[in-house]
Amino acid sequence: MATSAPPLGRRLDWQTVRVESTEPLGRRARLLKLGVTDWPGHLPGQHADVRLTADDGYEAQRSYSIASAAHEPGVSLAVEHVEGGEVSPYLTTEIRPGDAFELRGPIGGYFVWEAANGGPLYLCAGGSGIAPFKAVLEHRERFARGVPTTVLYAVRSPEHAMFAERINALATSDPALQIVWTYTRAAPKSWRGYARRVDAAMLRETAPRPDARPLIYVCGPTPFVELVASTLVELGYAPESIRTERFGPSGE
Ligand SMILES: Cc1cc2nc3c(=O)[nH]c(=O)nc-3n(C[C@H](O)[C@H](O)[C@H](O)COP(=O)(O)OP(=O)(O)OC[C@H]3O[C@@H](n4cnc5c(N)ncnc54)[C@H](O)[C@@H]3O)c2cc1C
Repeated sequence: MATSAPPLGRRLDWQTVRVESTEPLGRRARLLKLGVTDWPGHLPGQHADVRLTADDGYEAQRSYSIASAAHEPGVSLAVEHVEGGEVSPYLTTEIRPGDAFELRGPIGGYFVWEAANGGPLYLCAGGSGIAPFKAVLEHRERFARGVPTTVLYAVRSPEHAMFAERINALATSDPALQIVWTYTRAAPKSWRGYARRVDAAMLRETAPRPDARPLIYVCGPTPFVELVASTLVELGYAPESIRTERFGPSGE
């Protein structure tokens, strides 16, 4: 699990941030670009906590990965709409530019990947689990192009994908970066790639061999993460080479 350590010497305080803009990310998610005034910078793979306070004082707090590149100013969160949820429906359908809420971060060191960590790198994302990998891939593009990297991204359908254009563009310009899609519910008509949930065969076919000692990061809904991580261990990958971040209980 991710640690919750702020950068050394810095207290983690809540700060009020304003939404600068929002844009749709596929069918069920929204990208929130936040104006932050007191931000020490973040590392690829870190997250932040969001706190909403209702008029009657009721508070709700959730974590969101930081999707924006660490070397660029500002903070962006990619929030998927969870039906019946307390916080994500507000962040994806109600919030408007100019609205404010509280943010605390950056948080976490365990799920960070930086150029110095090297590779080969194997990133497995389910649904909104692509959010921290967007920041990792932007960092890699800037500081570590050429590090052999495979992203296995499981989404229900192309319309559910987040950042598809951006990550495909990154892969087009770097032969060392491969994006493998699997559509778990509806694939495009002429699709010849994977169209099922992630399984052992898919992991065996897409991950670097265990003896290449890849660094593995798995992120998404809890059942997705647990299935992928335990299957990788069964396939011979060292448990300590697999880092996981669990977003919530329901499956992809
Ligand atoms: C470190 C960390 C980083 C995260 N980063 C992101 C991110 O970048 N983007 C993002 O969209 N979410 C992210 N999450 C998940 C996020 O914190 C919330 O759990 C999510 O937005 C649901 O909150 P909610 O208040 O809408 O739903 P809740 O009111 O908490 O839950 C409503 C119902 O939905 C179920 N549920 C809860 N979470 C999920 C889920 N993820 N998928 C499906 N069902 C769920 C619950 O069991 C419950 O039945 C992250 C979580 C963690 C711990």
